[in-house]
Amino acid sequence: MKPRRTKIVATLGPATDSKSKITDLILAGANILRINLSHGTFEQQKEKILLAKECATELNKIVGILVDLQGPKIRIQALEERYLNLQENDSIVLDPTITYPGNTDGVGVNHPELPKEVVVGDELLLDDGRITLSVKDIQGSRVICQVISGGKLLPFKGLNKKGGGLSLPSLTEKDKQDIRSITGLPIDFVALSFPKTADDIRYARSLLKEQNNPAHIVAKIERAEAIENIDEIIEASDAVMVARGDLGVEIGYAELPGIQKYIINRASLSDKAVITATQMMESMITNPIPTRAEVSDVANAILDGTDAVMLSAETASGEFPIKVVAILHEICKAAERQRFARAARNRVESLCERSDESIAMAAMYIANHLKIKAIVALTESGSTPLLMSRIRSTIPIYAMSRHAETCRRMTLFKGVHPVYFDVTQFNAWDISKYALDKLIQMKILKEGDNVILTKGNIIGIGGNTNTLKILEAKNVT
Ligand code: PGA
Ligand code: MN
Repeated sequence: MKPRRTKIVATLGPATDSKSKITDLILAGANILRINLSHGTFEQQKEKILLAKECATELNKIVGILVDLQGPKIRIQALEERYLNLQENDSIVLDPTITYPGNTDGVGVNHPELPKEVVVGDELLLDDGRITLSVKDIQGSRVICQVISGGKLLPFKGLNKKGGGLSLPSLTEKDKQDIRSITGLPIDFVALSFPKTADDIRYARSLLKEQNNPAHIVAKIERAEAIENIDEIIEASDAVMVARGDLGVEIGYAELPGIQKYIINRASLSDKAVITATQMMESMITNPIPTRAEVSDVANAILDGTDAVMLSAETASGEFPIKVVAILHEICKAAERQRFARAARNRVESLCERSDESIAMAAMYIANHLKIKAIVALTESGSTPLLMSRIRSTIPIYAMSRHAETCRRMTLFKGVHPVYFDVTQFNAWDISKYALDKLIQMKILKEGDNVILTKGNIIGIGGNTNTLKILEAKNVT
């Protein structure tokens, strides 16, 4: 049985904050666990990070840990009543100077610049677009709005402007403090919320660097401005997330399918991994099975070429946190059997700049045209497996590294299955034999299986993959 190629990111939350639940999430197929710093105190989230790590270690599984920074989410503030029942044509005033619990005559907003950044006629969206307002007038700090489409407005719900343009800095004081606080914790990925430009990514990278934190940066694409600067943001990041929740509000949800395809394609061309996120299995927060539309959405994200699919509230606070991962696993496996998911026509025209790139490409094309069981890549940094996974194929890539950190980062790459393997323990001369032997011991390969193996000339040095061999797996120990 081929392993699942698409990776699953599962968010931890109240529904999954025990050791047994996290263990079950991993056993059901979660490859990366996400801790969302928008909720709870840092201490609470730190405990979760350590617990996630402990579960993975005890299971002896390679699991990535992703921390999601809150970012500058604009929110309304406290309300006098439990909620405001807004009806079409009602009037409501947003005012950032209000510090007391608000009502329709004035609700606080955590963005002092709001009155300067909206003009009459702008459309404001509350609670992920469930409620829409139209700006009718601005009087000093008061933004007077009319309800276009109403509903129950709960306190602290998000506020977006259609088309983007609200100017909060991308890294808040809290984000900067969180970057400092996560130093020393076992974190593989840091997700940046609401970046607008490549400078936002570079700035976050410099903060991580100050802390000697090697975590990879995932840029969440969720602002209209990020779409305008998408090429530079992708270049500056290690991976991107199609954050469909906020993005759908900013650009209008009808634009999402096209933008999703564009981002995935664009990221893949730049050798970056992509996570497709939000509402993938939304109905399973309360239902034991997904809707047909959700099943199709997941399958289509895979056919678009996403590396990973993400669960948010489904695993964080839903009623079926383990089952949703198991079902997502099944959907991914079925989608991966589609003929579309196999075709490898990409990059035939492109010229390679580096030798490892050409080896990665050659390996994939040989694998797709020869009867081959697997690709085995001996890797230091994970860059060759990343390059390999950008080329479409159904052949599994076993990426063997002596660096636990590299192994955990590769949990994000579609079709790449990290294996911890310390090359320095073996005679470099025979290394290929021992690598294949290890995979036989792990029951990944059988004796006699044909594989493609790639490695560098000098074992133990990164970025120098220059060798490709076609080998038959044999027992040597
Ligand atoms: P969030 O990001 O869950 O942190 O809001 C994802 C999204 O906006 O889709
Ligand atoms: Mn978001």
